[in-house]
Amino acid sequence: MENNAQEQVNLFIIGSGPAGYTAAIYAARADLSPVLYTGMQAGGQLTQTTEIENFPGFPQGIDGNMLMSQMEEQSRRFGTDIRFGAVTKVDFAHEKGGLHTITIDGEKEIKAQSVIIATGASARWLEIPTEEKYKGYGVSACATCDGFFFRGQVVCVVGAGDSALEEASYLAKLCKKVYLIVRRDQMRASKAMQSRVLSTENIEIIWNSQITEIYGAEAVEGVKVYDKVKNTTTDIPLQGIFVAIGHHPNTELFAGQIDLSPEGYIITKNGTSHTNVEGVFAAGDVQDNRYRQAIAAAGSGCKAAMDAEKYLVEL
Ligand code: NDP
Repeated sequence: MENNAQEQVNLFIIGSGPAGYTAAIYAARADLSPVLYTGMQAGGQLTQTTEIENFPGFPQGIDGNMLMSQMEEQSRRFGTDIRFGAVTKVDFAHEKGGLHTITIDGEKEIKAQSVIIATGASARWLEIPTEEKYKGYGVSACATCDGFFFRGQVVCVVGAGDSALEEASYLAKLCKKVYLIVRRDQMRASKAMQSRVLSTENIEIIWNSQITEIYGAEAVEGVKVYDKVKNTTTDIPLQGIFVAIGHHPNTELFAGQIDLSPEGYIITKNGTSHTNVEGVFAAGDVQDNRYRQAIAAAGSGCKAAMDAEKYLVEL
């Protein structure tokens, strides 16, 4: 491969969610001249959310896209070099002061003295045989993106965490009926979300159940749902299936380069953003299997920028 780009940067930030942008704001204000690559989904997971009601500073709530575009603007204002593109390979140096090599879109190579990984997490799917066939034809992982297409129709949401209940509430405003398919006899979501869903008339909860089959000619026309307590399978005609069963960390790129937990999350040391590689830091959902909140991700982005600054000063 021809390598005609010899760019070298102080600090390279991978990812453009709350962690990446917060790291960029702090790093840019500390004169570290950060270069941030957005990844394919600029703005990250919050761009697929509706109203965010628990991000401090917005008492009336704020739209996810709006919050992310404001973070982007704020990081640009202090001089962050924001670029659209995906990191396709990393080659981390394993001694202090060594340069890390990052490949963009399979072509351009950039050398970096320090790196902040803020690649976040991605939606999980049910992984039943017919799911793939109907993606984009009734099967979705984002009610905010696709709910509009199901106005006045019948849909289901799978999952019982805050995401699933948030999606169910959102869809209940658009759709005739929303089934919430829960695999156990209880939900993981916060009590506040549970009571909101339980008091919504057009949401029906189907407990102890899982979808075993999706059917339809061109698009989804219904699902078969197995109730493991009653040992029965029910056929539910519907047009949309929203899968909201959690996420997996976006760390495929870093396998073999950095220490990962058995679940694939980047391991950070003692509440800091330090990884096992000198000069490489991690922030946000990519290293957080527990809190996974936008505000927690933003906080860890701040820590990563401060850790990177200290590292660069000490070099
Ligand atoms: P969670 O991991 O919290 O929940 C995943 C849900 O999906 C669980 O109920 C789980 O069931 C269920 N599930 C997993 N696999 C399957 C499967 N194969 N079939 C059926 N069901 C399945 O993920 P979320 O995305 O909901 O939330 C992630 C984090 O983000 C949480 O900390 C949450 O609090 C937070 N969040 C906060 C929001 C807010 O505050 N506004 C909004 C959205 C998310 P089981 O319980 O049986 O394991």
